[in-house]
Amino acid sequence: MPSKTRTGFGYDIHRLEAGRRLVLGGVDIPHPAGLLGHSDGDALVHAVIDALLGALAEGDIGALFPDTDPRYKGARSLGLLETVMGRLRARGAAVVNVDAVIVAEEPKMGPHIPAMRAALAPVLGLPETAVGLKAKTNEGLGPVGERRAIACFAVALLSWPD
Ligand code: MG
Repeated sequence: MPSKTRTGFGYDIHRLEAGRRLVLGGVDIPHPAGLLGHSDGDALVHAVIDALLGALAEGDIGALFPDTDPRYKGARSLGLLETVMGRLRARGAAVVNVDAVIVAEEPKMGPHIPAMRAALAPVLGLPETAVGLKAKTNEGLGPVGERRAIACFAVALLSWPD
């Protein structure tokens, strides 16, 4: 175990809106509704970014990529993650692993999880075996259960070489 490690935690939720693209983990998922957002609305990548920034104690995604900044309108969230990885590497850190949960009533996420792990792993500098990803429903409860939103949670472990 390296002498210095840090964990970080991230959460995000976006509203679902009919007719928008649904992008999660950098993957386009066929669905009649997508996530509303200034960027592509990829709540999974946003939760992962906040986990990484949390481990660095560098605030959150909104401070780094303000939703008032036209540069980030429609931005590909995987690109934002690449920017965060640059900051992380500049701090001398590497990601050890990431684990995340998608909470969505529909569509079924299971078939898309391999593609999401394959999209996230290279950006994080990790093998796919170090990118955990699960999906569950909210059992019909609350805005996620009522199909009005999708929420994501993520944790990350960072290490600094001795
Ligand atoms: Mg977000």
